[in-house]
Amino acid sequence: LEAKEEFSHKTRAMDVMRPRKNDPPLTVITQDSMTVEDVETIVTKTTYSGYPVVVSRASQRLVGFVLRRDLIISVENARKKQDGIVSTSIICFTDYCPPLPPSSPSVLKLRSILDLSPFTVTDETPMEIVVDIFRKLGLRQCLVTHNGKLLGIITKKDVLKHIAQMANQDPDSILFN
Ligand code: ADP
Repeated sequence: LEAKEEFSHKTRAMDVMRPRKNDPPLTVITQDSMTVEDVETIVTKTTYSGYPVVVSRASQRLVGFVLRRDLIISVENARKKQDGIVSTSIICFTDYCPPLPPSSPSVLKLRSILDLSPFTVTDETPMEIVVDIFRKLGLRQCLVTHNGKLLGIITKKDVLKHIAQMANQDPDSILFN
């Protein structure tokens, strides 16, 4: 096997995605069970550009992707302008929001800021192909799944770092030129 061929078969999306082994889990948002306060805590405690939205933490089924800035703006606006939106209001990213007891605060519907088809690859996808997709589609991030379950995320910067690392290891590699 030629070096570059060997490499292209070796490095897969699972090797580049975050979280890495022993990292804390991916920061996700659930589609209809988090409160305004939960989401405010997430955007305060983390600086990620976006968050995968899942059906539930237990299922890890991907529903979409929400950008940090859209989330911050929408929650801030709702707090200021929308009647009944308080810390304990449930945020709902689905078309149909489950009915709550009459005493509960208004639901904040954020379906409109959810990207319903974020780009995904499986964990086995060779990085050569992932890099190609980032280039050709101009992606900012890509989600990684295994058997339909969300596993991780690869950002454009992760891809660039990976390319730089490969170039260092093998300066003659023409794979990404
Ligand atoms: P960038 O890679 O441009 O710095 P981010 O700030 O979104 O973009 O991501 C920083 C790092 O955290 C990247 O390595 C990325 O893979 C990872 N990451 C991005 N989003 C999340 C998330 N929701 N949960 C856990 N890790 C994430």
